[in-house]
Amino acid sequence: MMKKNKINPCILIFTLVFTVMNSYGQEVKNDKKPNIIFIMSDDHANRTISAYGSGLNQTPNIDRIANEGAIFINSYNSNSICGPSRASILTGKHGHKNGVIGNGAAWNRNQTLLPRVLQQNGYKTALIGKWHLNSNPGDEFDYWKVLMGAGKQGFYYNPFFITSKGEELTEQGYSTDIVTNDALKWLDKNAKGNEQPFTLFVQYKATHVPRMPHFRYLDRYKNDTIPEPATLFDDYSTRERYAKEANMKVGYRPLPLLEDHDPSTNIYYKRMTKDQLEKWHSYKDPINKEYFKLKKEGKLKGDALKKFAYQQFIKDYLRCVDGIDDNVGRILTWLDENEQIKENTIIIYASDQSYFTGEHGFAEKRFMYEEGLKMPFVMRYPNKIKPGTRVEQMIQNIDHAPTLINAAGIKIPKDMQGESFLQIAKGEQDNTWRKSVYYHYYDHGRHNVPRHDGIRSERYKLIHFYTDDKYEFYDLKLDPNEIDNLYGNDRYKNIIAKMTKELHQLRITYEVPEKYFKPPYAEVKGFKKKSKK
Ligand code: CA
Repeated sequence: MMKKNKINPCILIFTLVFTVMNSYGQEVKNDKKPNIIFIMSDDHANRTISAYGSGLNQTPNIDRIANEGAIFINSYNSNSICGPSRASILTGKHGHKNGVIGNGAAWNRNQTLLPRVLQQNGYKTALIGKWHLNSNPGDEFDYWKVLMGAGKQGFYYNPFFITSKGEELTEQGYSTDIVTNDALKWLDKNAKGNEQPFTLFVQYKATHVPRMPHFRYLDRYKNDTIPEPATLFDDYSTRERYAKEANMKVGYRPLPLLEDHDPSTNIYYKRMTKDQLEKWHSYKDPINKEYFKLKKEGKLKGDALKKFAYQQFIKDYLRCVDGIDDNVGRILTWLDENEQIKENTIIIYASDQSYFTGEHGFAEKRFMYEEGLKMPFVMRYPNKIKPGTRVEQMIQNIDHAPTLINAAGIKIPKDMQGESFLQIAKGEQDNTWRKSVYYHYYDHGRHNVPRHDGIRSERYKLIHFYTDDKYEFYDLKLDPNEIDNLYGNDRYKNIIAKMTKELHQLRITYEVPEKYFKPPYAEVKGFKKKSKK
C-alpha cells in the first residue's frame, strides 16, 4: 500500500509534462506570430563576414544581426550548390527527398514548402530576388519577383525580372540595390499597419560569378594586398586525385579578358548602358592591361599568376559583399524606423552556402571541405534570442523550415527531415541534438568535382568519393585546414571504422536510396548529367 504522504511518481511526471506543454502552448497562443525576413545571398564565404572573425573585411550590418541575436558557428548545407541548398531550405529535406540533387533537377513546388505552411497558417508570403530553381515559384508566395536570365542566375547590371503578376521587367540599376528597393516597397505596402504576420524572402545574386560590384565600390581595396588563406598553395599531396583535378582553381581563368568586354558577345556587358560600360572600362581596363603586361614579361607564371589572380578575385568578391552589407543595413534601418514591427520580427542573414575564397587554391564551392560545407547563418529574434548568443551546435539548411515553422507556433510537418533549433538558439540545453551532419554532392559536371557524400562530426570528417569507392578522412581538431588526409592511417583505424558506420547510419536515417551512392551508382531520374570537359 502506498504511504500517505508519498506522491505517485506517474502523477508527478504527468503534471510536470502537462504544465510544460501547457505553458509552451500558452506562449505560442498568447504571442502574436513573429514576422520573418529571410535574407539570403549567394556563395557568400563565412570568412568574408566580420562576425565570423577572420578580420579580412568589415560587414557591420550583418554583424549587427549577429550581435543583437545569434551567430551559428557550425552551420552547414546539405549539398554545396545554389539550387539544392535553396530546395533544402524550402522543404526541410535533403535533395534525394525533395528531388533537387543538382542544379539541373526539376523543381516540384507541390510538395510541402516552408512558405506554404506559413501561408496556410495565416502568413502573407513573398519572395524577391534570386530563385534559381527550374520552375517558377507558385502561389505558395502571395507575391514573387525573381531574377531571370544567365541560366536563372540573373544579371548584376540592369537585371531582368519576372513576377507573379505575369510581368517581365528589365530594370535600370544594380541588382542588390534593386532587390532591396523592391523588398522595402513590399514591406511598406504589406507590413505597415497590417495585423497579418508576414514572411519575406530577400535573395541576392551577389556574390555569385561573374562578380560585378557596383561602381561605388570599385575603388575600394585598390591599393591593398588582401591576405592570402593558409592553403592557397595546397599541393593536394595527401588527397585522392579529385581536388587536384577540379576545374575551380584561382587563376584557372584569371580575369575577364579584354575581348570579353565586347558588348555584342558578352551577355553581362551587353545589358549595360553606354555610360555604365565606359565607367566599367575605366576601372577594369588598367588591371587587364597590367595583367597582359606582366604576362608578356614572363612575370605571371605558376605561383605568381595565382597570387595576382587571387588579388583580383578577392577584391571584386569583397566589393560585392560590401554591396550586400550596405543593403542589409537598409533593411535593418527600415525595421528601426518601424519599431513595433521590429519587436516581433525574426531577421536572418544566410547564404545558400559558403565559398572557397582561395582555400586549397579554389574559387568555388561543391567539395565537402569546410568552406564548401559551411553556410553563414545569423538570426535576430527580439525578446526570444539573447543578444550576443553564440550557437556551437551543428545546424544544417534542412533545419531552417522546421525552425521557422516552430517559431510561428505551427506543428512541424512530419515529412521534414530537419529539426527546429529554436530552443538551442534560446540557450536551452538539448543533449539529444545531432552530433553529425550528412552531406551529398551529385552535380558532376564541368567543374570536375565527382559525386561524393560524407559525414562531419564535431571533430572528424569522412568523405566518400563513391564513384571510385575512395575515401578521405580529416581530424579537424588537429588539422582545421584539412591538408592531411588520414584515411588508412593506423592511428585512426578505430575512429575511421566508427565514422564509416555512422555515415551509413545517416544514409539509412535520411533514407538515401542505395543506388545513389553504392558502386556502381545509378544515374538519377530527373537529374541531367552535364558532360565532362
Ligand atoms: Ca550558391
